[in-house]
Amino acid sequence: MQSPRILASDHASLAGHPPDHLITFNKATPVNLTICHDTEQQRQPTDILCSPALRSECCDLGFKYTPDSQHFMEIDRLCCQIDEPSFRAQKANTMDEMDQLHPATDTIQGPPSVLTSLYDLTRDQLAKQLGEWGEPAFRTNQIWRWMYESLVTDVDEMTDVSKSLRTKLKQHYTLSRLKPVIAQRSTDGWTRKWLLRLADGSEVETVLMEYEGVRRTACISSQAGCAMDCSFCATGQMGFLRNLRAGEIIEQVIWVARALAEDKSALPQSRAGHAGEEADRLSNVVFMGMGEPFANYNNTLEAARRLIEPSDKGGFGLGARKLTISTVGLVPGIRKFSAEGLQVNLAVSLHAATDELRSQLVPINRRYPLRELTKAVHDYIARSNRRVSFEWALIDGVNDTPEQAQALVQLVRETFDPVAEKRHMLHVNMIPLNPTHGYKGRSSQRTRIQRFCAILDAAGIPNTLRVRRGIDINAGCGQLKADSQTPSQP
Ligand code: SF4
Repeated sequence: MQSPRILASDHASLAGHPPDHLITFNKATPVNLTICHDTEQQRQPTDILCSPALRSECCDLGFKYTPDSQHFMEIDRLCCQIDEPSFRAQKANTMDEMDQLHPATDTIQGPPSVLTSLYDLTRDQLAKQLGEWGEPAFRTNQIWRWMYESLVTDVDEMTDVSKSLRTKLKQHYTLSRLKPVIAQRSTDGWTRKWLLRLADGSEVETVLMEYEGVRRTACISSQAGCAMDCSFCATGQMGFLRNLRAGEIIEQVIWVARALAEDKSALPQSRAGHAGEEADRLSNVVFMGMGEPFANYNNTLEAARRLIEPSDKGGFGLGARKLTISTVGLVPGIRKFSAEGLQVNLAVSLHAATDELRSQLVPINRRYPLRELTKAVHDYIARSNRRVSFEWALIDGVNDTPEQAQALVQLVRETFDPVAEKRHMLHVNMIPLNPTHGYKGRSSQRTRIQRFCAILDAAGIPNTLRVRRGIDINAGCGQLKADSQTPSQP
């Protein structure tokens, strides 16, 4: 018997799901799947039906689909036996196991009519392609520079490339695969947000945040949707669709960089005084859009490496310390990342300092509780000597209490004692919650925020209260996509 494969689903998120892999359910994933076994010549469809309660239990766990199982019973049994060793065996302790839990989706293709993007190619792959066409080696650098330095949108803009090569490139590749579905600019002009459609119809959000002409930060997505199911997050509420390819991650950055370069006329008046060559260049990139970057580890790292490739090599030239990867706390990912030796920044979305509360807000905490997470962070800092940010979305009456602040102080102390001098290597970044339709929590009141900060200050824990950006354009992760799907009220 061959591996089973999903032939149909009433939800696009499972279309193209690789065969015989773990399927991670979350509350937003529809319940009806039609899964077929390919036997010799015969397809045998089997319906899997999950009750909503069952889905809820499955939300952060996933299950192994096996060809021989009675599917419904299999799911039921697993969900009812969460504490049994057979189920705990699903937990990933290494990145290989993580790859199984969150399989790569590089095989997903767009419609046949859509050309491959040049940004899907590594430099070596581009060189190989050009070599196969009989082009000299220096062409690779030429084209690479047009893509990453000049940010051209059309192959014909590569003026020092022969016309015949340009024709060949256009026949096989594109430079602009992303299609804008929604483009918004905040009323103060400093935040812009796009909902971008990929070749297969999936949509991701990309945000540009400008900080008074000092910084221009692109917030990019690493997955379409997200399986982590953080309760307050609009992306988590919509469920997981698929991993993005490295090229699709990079294209978001290129999109923002092009917008900055091309849209000078739309700059707010207040920026006139900051005008200059650097004022129009992207200065920072954060992986804080849709998705969990370490659940799409290889593509995230490939994209990061390409973005920090120096400009004297024709690369995009973003300083490594200007790039931040934010994880919700996938411990195997943090451990693998610490061995990469990259100088990029790591942020951990903490949001709570007790397992009880964190498991409610960030369900992956059930799999990687605080003790394991902080140990991984400690080891990362010890190995890399790089500072880590703890991200904290302040939710009124939930995680902005004095008790949570004290618990956070205690957590930081436990993480670094007896190496107390290392405490400054942890920085707490707080931001009032961006409310979402699917979560009843609200952003914290000013007095509660002040009290929370005061407790951290008194304990000597470095912290920053960030201002919410683009609140009038739903700039929180997943909000634009969620709103685009919300039927308008009669
Ligand atoms: S907060 Fe991040 S990890 Fe959590 S559901 Fe949203 S996108 Fe996923």
